[in-house]
Amino acid sequence: MMKKIAILGSTGSIGTQTVDILPSIDAEVVALTTNRRINLLEEQARALHPKMVCAMDESAAKELKIKLADTDIEVLTGMDGLIACAAESGADIVVTAVVGMVGLLPTMAAIKAGKDIALANKETLVCAGGLVMSAANQYGVRILPVDSEHSAIFQCVQAANGNPIDKILLTASGGPFFGKKIEEMRGMTREQALAHPNWSMGAKITIDSATMMNKGLELIEAMWLYDLPPEDIEIVVHRESIVHSAVEFADGAVIAQLGLPDMRLPIQLALTWPQRVPCKVPRMSLAEVAKLTFYAPDYEAFPALNLAKHAASLKGDRGAVLNGANEAAVGLFLNDKIGFTDIAERVAYALDTIPYKKDITLDDVLAADKAAREIVLG
Ligand code: NAD
Ligand code: MG
Repeated sequence: MMKKIAILGSTGSIGTQTVDILPSIDAEVVALTTNRRINLLEEQARALHPKMVCAMDESAAKELKIKLADTDIEVLTGMDGLIACAAESGADIVVTAVVGMVGLLPTMAAIKAGKDIALANKETLVCAGGLVMSAANQYGVRILPVDSEHSAIFQCVQAANGNPIDKILLTASGGPFFGKKIEEMRGMTREQALAHPNWSMGAKITIDSATMMNKGLELIEAMWLYDLPPEDIEIVVHRESIVHSAVEFADGAVIAQLGLPDMRLPIQLALTWPQRVPCKVPRMSLAEVAKLTFYAPDYEAFPALNLAKHAASLKGDRGAVLNGANEAAVGLFLNDKIGFTDIAERVAYALDTIPYKKDITLDDVLAADKAAREIVLG
């Protein structure tokens, strides 16, 4: 049956790769959104004929409205527009490919409207995993992971046959600064940090990969998606990004998912599951891959990992504080306002300074996020 899809953040790395695989699946696009890349959004809208589009930025939305004046596509703006695209566009499934916790409210609205979620936007689960997962449960919607590691785990878990998972092995590329000590990373520039060895992604997640905060965020994401305590999620550095993650069972058997590093496969699977259909991604030759290497992470060089583990074990508002502080600090680093190792230091300071709240509502999440950003931005 033709699936109706809304793509939030369709102009980004995940968004454009989602558009790229559409011809492989039976889908109709009902909504597209951007922050301000309206030229690309216009192009996508003319090709895909969605019912509605949204440019988050108000002046970008005004321009987009003029560009699309000869069509019957509704042009929206702001958080209300993003929420409408998620919840009122008639989608069966919403691809959340916006970057940052800005995805939280539209994701919650989509869940409450009974839409399945193809979740790329990890910040949403980091900030409010408990609330998102219980809403998904309550409204009977599926959260299908797009993040490559979580898609791998999702695929491995299907070998469980009802048995519990003993442990998740969460693989990490190690990023561009693998093997470096913290002193060597102090002077690293924006360009050095943006040069990821295996994946081409948006700027924010690329910096998160360099600090390894990305793996910390993914640990929290995995904790919520698979309902495991953080102690049962082991981070393993795997430079080749071929083993996308693995799951260990009670008997010690480890089931892994392998493939070339290409997000189009996990994106496509989230949209076609439980079916599998041919995918554009080139097939992997194990003989060509030849060698797979694995290392324990260096927790001293990458303090973001411990900050995330700490936030994971406390839960409550710590995910929102960790994430809000990190988003703000990464923004400062990308604007050359702070150094590379200051990112984790600022996150640590926010976690130390903002009083811990255990039982949280959505408003507490928003408040913790705001407080964390204010502390980091000074
Ligand atoms: P990106 O920066 O390339 O794209 C982000 C998209 O969100 C763009 O369409 C942009 O216009 C939109 N956007 C940005 N700021 C916005 C705002 N304030 N309000 C509304 N829309 C906004 O990012 P990306 O690399 O595609 O990552 C998207 C999400 O997917 C992130 O949460 C990231 O962690 C996750 N993810 C990405 C990859 C990857 O390979 N790129 C892999 C796994 C997970
Ligand atoms: Mg990932």
